[in-house]
Amino acid sequence: MAKRDYYEVLGVSKSASAEEIKKAYRKLAIQYHPDKNPDNPEAEDKFKEAAEAYEVLSNPDKKARYDQFGHQGLGGNGGFGGGGMNMEDIFSQFGDIFGGGGFESFFGGGRGGRRTKKGTNLRVKLKLNLKEIANGVEKKIKVKRQVLAEGVTFKTCQTCQGTGQIKKVVNTMLGQMVSASPCHVCGGNGQIVDKKPAEADPRGLILKEEVITINIPAGVADGMQLSMSGKGNETAGGIPGDLLIVIEEVEDEILQRDGNNVVYDLYVSFVDAALGEQIEVPTIDGKVKIKIEPGTQSGKILRLKGKGIKDLNGYSRGDQLIHVNVWTPKQLSKEERSILEGLKNSDNFKPDPGKSEKSFFDKMKEFF
Ligand SMILES: [Zn+2]
Repeated sequence: MAKRDYYEVLGVSKSASAEEIKKAYRKLAIQYHPDKNPDNPEAEDKFKEAAEAYEVLSNPDKKARYDQFGHQGLGGNGGFGGGGMNMEDIFSQFGDIFGGGGFESFFGGGRGGRRTKKGTNLRVKLKLNLKEIANGVEKKIKVKRQVLAEGVTFKTCQTCQGTGQIKKVVNTMLGQMVSASPCHVCGGNGQIVDKKPAEADPRGLILKEEVITINIPAGVADGMQLSMSGKGNETAGGIPGDLLIVIEEVEDEILQRDGNNVVYDLYVSFVDAALGEQIEVPTIDGKVKIKIEPGTQSGKILRLKGKGIKDLNGYSRGDQLIHVNVWTPKQLSKEERSILEGLKNSDNFKPDPGKSEKSFFDKMKEFF
């Protein structure tokens, strides 16, 4: 079955804000929630479909790729897939959308064991230079994360009898409703620390510095967020949170990034432009020699194919565009002046742009 457009699934426009997307998802999640639609596979499908759409559109990185490439852009590349989700995923990832107990109490009951408690996420910034972005890079970063201390033991929480929830029956105009809220003693774990080493906190956690190796795919951009699941803080009786890596692009002093292309401004003397010359230019992967043809005009753009940045999807690679600027001397010695004055009325030095000299706009059309 063809996948529906995620914006269509949530019923929002492409320009919808994060808040609007969240609202739209919450509405659908409540409408199609399994508790409200028992034994209704169609509702379950809609519930999953909405969660999948929200998973992508609530993540700036995935959303950007989806906006650009559609469903294709999310297909199994380095674990950022937007593939189907099961109910466990949905409740562990988006449980908070239902907001502190309000949702559960409305429908009564609560999902109890289906909900998995998750540790908090860690967020780190990672600076990358142009070369690292162009080719992808393996980075080792130091992260201080909360982990369960060795030797910690747990016992069942007496306050909630291990359910993690405190239930209250409330009489309302609509009849009796069950309100459930997380147990304040165990924080919803159902278990509390029995024995722990002295250095651990009351939750049995210690702060531990770890070196984590991250493989950064080529083609990432400033502000993108990569997520390593399970590398965040641990929590007793649950699964660890995620490590979120926010990319910071360090601007190169010489080469400019333009999408997957790299732009370099080359200055040549008008002698070299007139006579032709071999000139060395920097690229991401070191210096290369290029040929300046005799009679090269200022503004010409030369293309070094495949010397740009690898696409995030790994299918293609950008180019390096060399923008040729012919340098006009700002100062002249007496001798230089007299040579140039001798050439002043020379026919070949009079501008005579023909059809082969494209205008600036034509060049732009051709290259971008
Ligand atoms: Zn408890």
